Formats: sequence, C-alpha cells, structure tokens
Amino acid sequence: MSDRRDKTVTHSPLPPLQPLTPIECPRCGESNPSWRAKCQRCDLWLPRPDDSPPPIPDRIKRPGYITGWALFFGFYILLSASLFASDSAAAATFSPVDLLLLIGTGVLTLAAVLVIAGVWRLEPWARVPAIVIHVVLIALVVANMVTSPLPDTPGTASGDGTLSSDAFAQQADVCGNVFWILLNGAFIAWFATHKDTFRSRR
Ligand SMILES: [Zn+2]
Repeated sequence: MSDRRDKTVTHSPLPPLQPLTPIECPRCGESNPSWRAKCQRCDLWLPRPDDSPPPIPDRIKRPGYITGWALFFGFYILLSASLFASDSAAAATFSPVDLLLLIGTGVLTLAAVLVIAGVWRLEPWARVPAIVIHVVLIALVVANMVTSPLPDTPGTASGDGTLSSDAFAQQADVCGNVFWILLNGAFIAWFATHKDTFRSRR
C-alpha cells in the first residue's frame, strides 16, 4: 500500500498536453478539430497555427517630445549635411580633402539618421550615441566660435557708441550659439537621466 504510494510520488508527472484548439474555417466558419488539414464542411485548406504571423508587439509608448526631437534633429542634420554638400560641390577648387570631408559628412549623416531612428523607436542602444551627437553639435559650435574671427574690438568701430551692423550680427550670432549650446546641453541632460524611457518596451 505504502509502496505504491511512494511509486506515484517518485514518478515525475507527464508534461501537460497542449490544449488542442479547434481551427475555425476562414470561409464557412466551421470549427474543425486541430488535426484536420482541410475544413470538414467546405474542404478549404485550413490555416495552420504556425501560418499565422507573430503577434504584433505592443505599440511603443513614445513621449511626444521624442517625436519632436527626432523630427527636429533629423531635419536639422539632413539640412546641414545637404547645405555642406552643395557648398563644397559649388566650390571653385575641389580638392581630395574636400572629397574626403564630403564622404565623411555623408557617413556621419547616415549614422546620425540611424541613431535618430533608433531613439524614435526607443531602442536602448540609441541613447548613448544620441548624447554623442549632441556633444558633437556643441563641439562644432564652440569650434566655430573659437576659430571665427572676432570683430576688431567692438564699440570702437563706430565712434557714436552704436554698434556697427557687423558687431550686431556678431552678437546675435553669439546669442544664437549660446542658445544652441544650452539646447543641446538640455538634451544631453535629458538623455543622461532618462535611461528608463528606453526600456519601457520590455
Ligand atoms: Zn469551411
């Protein structure tokens, strides 16, 4: 008696059978047993379970500002790249260095577009490259500010104290650059602190 009971305990139970779900005929609606290949009423080939496409993943919950960011920087980068390309193509002298710069710009643009697409889909891998893009954009502006010649001592250009139009343009430029640096800095801060947003899918 006890011997038998021990046996039933030591035997590992069989894995539970998968429930055989009936296959509904797509034409006549007949509910067919799962082993049937054709509908038992209308003889239509029945869809096999593995014929059905994989389930559509849940829609990504994408914050609106991500969409805005992706659109803005996508257009910005494509626009800058095409402006640079048309500028160097229009240059009178087209040196091998220009060609290399052009190819480099193309590759970087492609990479940036891929990263932006990755961020748009909230891919976790895209977060750090997105930060890199913003660091590069800041570095480009800073490099431009450092290398571009400053106007000869502002204020002395015109004796009456009003700024010359050149100096005014220069100041507007500086304001724009500072705004641009702050904007990119804000995005860097956002990407650095929103790691979780890029994992919300799983
Ligand atoms: Zn049928």
